[in-house]
Amino acid sequence: MLALLSYELRKVALGTCGRDYGTPCAHENARVRCPLLRVDSAQIPRLETIHANLADRLQEAKDQGWLGEVAAIETTLAAAAQKLETMRGTTARAATAMRLGMPDIRRSTRRSSSDS
Ligand code: SF4
Repeated sequence: MLALLSYELRKVALGTCGRDYGTPCAHENARVRCPLLRVDSAQIPRLETIHANLADRLQEAKDQGWLGEVAAIETTLAAAAQKLETMRGTTARAATAMRLGMPDIRRSTRRSSSDS
């Protein structure tokens, strides 16, 4: 039960938290910027929406001259873009994965029995 509870506590909105079991969040819920966040591929559309919203907020901050906000949003925007790129690459590799099948052990067994 404790293991299940601990596993459930690792689920976050965009995927799974990769921090050590039984430890609190040391990144103050940095969300998209957190290097321990493993984004679930099913959450790509949500992350794309977040990325678009960040771009809008960045433009607004620049227009208003909120330079402190600009730096923070740029950092978050870069992290979101990097995670999106990683997820798209992972999804593309999974789509092109080639099935190699299993080796036919019967064939090698027949050959070895006829050799002796
Ligand atoms: S910010 Fe990072 S460490 Fe904290 S809960 Fe989110 S993914 Fe886990």
